[in-house]
Amino acid sequence: MGVRFCVLGSGSAGNAALVMTPRAHVLIDIGFSPDQLAARMDGTGASWETLKAVVLTHTHADHLKKRTLKEIAQREIPFFCHESHAKQLQGGRYFKRLNEAGAVRLYNGREAFDAADGVRFNPLHLPHDCPPTFGFRIEAVNGDGRAVKLGYLADLGHERDGLAAAIADVDLLALEFNHDEDLERNSGRHPKLIGRVLGDEGHLSNRQAAEVFERVLKMANGSGGPRYLVQMHLSEDCNRPELAFKAAQEVVLKMGAQTKVFSTKQDLRGTVHEIA
Ligand SMILES: [Zn+2]
Ligand SMILES: [Zn+2]
Repeated sequence: MGVRFCVLGSGSAGNAALVMTPRAHVLIDIGFSPDQLAARMDGTGASWETLKAVVLTHTHADHLKKRTLKEIAQREIPFFCHESHAKQLQGGRYFKRLNEAGAVRLYNGREAFDAADGVRFNPLHLPHDCPPTFGFRIEAVNGDGRAVKLGYLADLGHERDGLAAAIADVDLLALEFNHDEDLERNSGRHPKLIGRVLGDEGHLSNRQAAEVFERVLKMANGSGGPRYLVQMHLSEDCNRPELAFKAAQEVVLKMGAQTKVFSTKQDLRGTVHEIA
């Protein structure tokens, strides 16, 4: 049995994704209510009952619904967050419950950690206006004992040095394609918000994300690069799935890659990808 990956929903109103191995199911981010998460997990093989761990990228509300912490505390599911996240959350009653349940696990942002048996997370520091924000390079062991590699980069303002190299060998890359730069500039949104999104600590545009993807393919050195590219965090107002797809597909054609490009939505669960 392979490793499976599924984005349960992605966008400015909520984010969560599942990593499923034959031995463990791990949830990344909790940007939805417990009921919504249950509904979105239904049919994937995962459920609240099967989750072995939850891992947090950062504390923006579209990645962390605080009342979902209550569900995690009640179920005593290990909750992995950075030490600074814990400091930011420590005043909240649901996080307190999590602490009382002994479910809080801290990662330091420099070292890899095992979220569950055979699911290793390597944190990657991301430039985003909610410090610290992390993406992950994940090694998940499949039924044959081979480690399948996944990259998960949800919120980042620009590609920092070394980022593409850190994920150059992944089998699946889940990457933010947030906005089209022209649609964002002409959106009629408040200039401050436009400045934030386009800024170095905001979100990746289709163009920027395509550049990250291209660099990953260049660094993959003949191994072919990711077999799957999963586009995340598309803006409902300032992006269109066909624009994001086109930006990535142009790179696939230019580089002669075999990568299959998938998009994700805010309101619907994405494809369950199985990687042998
Ligand atoms: Zn964010
Ligand atoms: Zn976000």
